[in-house]
Amino acid sequence: MIEAISMLAWLAGVSGAPVPAVDPLTQPITTSRSAEWLTPAEPEEIFGETYLVGFGGMSVALIDTGAGLVLVDGALPQAAPAILANVRKLGFDPKDIKFILSTEPHFDHAGGLAALARDTGATVVASERGAEGLRMGKHADDDPQLGYGGSWPAVAEVRAVKDGEVLKLGTTAITAVATPGHTMGSMSWRWPACEGRVCKAVVFASSLNPVSADGYRFTSKAGEPFVEGFAASYRKMDAMPCDILISAHPDNAGPGRYSDAPGACRTYADSSRKRLEKRLEEERASAQ
Ligand SMILES: [Zn+2]
Repeated sequence: MIEAISMLAWLAGVSGAPVPAVDPLTQPITTSRSAEWLTPAEPEEIFGETYLVGFGGMSVALIDTGAGLVLVDGALPQAAPAILANVRKLGFDPKDIKFILSTEPHFDHAGGLAALARDTGATVVASERGAEGLRMGKHADDDPQLGYGGSWPAVAEVRAVKDGEVLKLGTTAITAVATPGHTMGSMSWRWPACEGRVCKAVVFASSLNPVSADGYRFTSKAGEPFVEGFAASYRKMDAMPCDILISAHPDNAGPGRYSDAPGACRTYADSSRKRLEKRLEEERASAQ
């Protein structure tokens, strides 16, 4: 009986509120690459009030607008506590995060959004199609990776923004740039980071990786809008002001955690363009 009472007291936690034995929103999703993606990394200032608070193999950015914080992407569900710890390490309070911007509705970039939104009170923001995917917590019916199956914690409330829409907070204006192809809802985000009178255009680019589950064909009728989406995304990446590129998977943009090489966004688009061309050639060859 005594043991039962002390067990109950333990379960009730110090505040008296029931503590769930497991947090459903941070349960790990483990794949052959998840440990590599979540290689721990120190938080780092890039330029102005723009920081990296993610991992060695998975980008998460933080912007201090002077009137609240903005986070970009949420990595995997189990990553949420480490992201918030990195925010605190920089001296910020996670409760000051007002918006969390999403680049795509896939578990590796969006799995942590539900826990992060709950723990910060922030509003999750995505494209229309991105928002649909985040609310479901699974692949859209037309997603080339649908065949992989699986799900991740859904985000109950997501604010949808259109291509070109500008999100303002404090002195910072963040532009939504639709970059479909990897998913139809993929969205990149661009903002100026300033130090004194010097401002640099920072682009947080969504994945432009032309990958799919087995059996999917980008050369099929279903693949057409994706190939067209990639083409439109390349045109935008080629034309966009881009002094600093943070790519959703950092290894897609070169060796560092970000790239400030001239033409970084064009190089990023070019590497996807080459991979897509190769993929389309292989599909056409296998159809003959
Ligand atoms: Zn993805």
